[in-house]
Amino acid sequence: MDWQLLKPSQMDGTLTFRYDTTGQPVALLPARCKLGRHTLGHSQFRAVVHDGEVHISCLACANSGADHFWRLAATAPAPDRAELCEELYNELALGRAQRALSTARVDDAH
Ligand SMILES: [Zn+2]
Repeated sequence: MDWQLLKPSQMDGTLTFRYDTTGQPVALLPARCKLGRHTLGHSQFRAVVHDGEVHISCLACANSGADHFWRLAATAPAPDRAELCEELYNELALGRAQRALSTARVDDAH
């Protein structure tokens, strides 16, 4: 049995970044928290890099005990700067929904 598959929090994607006009890398972070409840602003989230992973934690969700952080694989040292990206959130949310559908056949309650 592959216990990796049973972990409740899977890797959500890979940290991406763009280059600004001066050639400096800027990390792109999802603009909303993992559950889509909150728009992430400077006072509402914390990004932590360790062991090749970036955890972007929504402080409001963390307080409520929910699945509150994105896990992104960092393949290169994280840039000093970061910005929030709505499109990235949409991509991650879509990928997450597709994984949920492929790993569990649950009747959609919507
Ligand atoms: Zn949240």
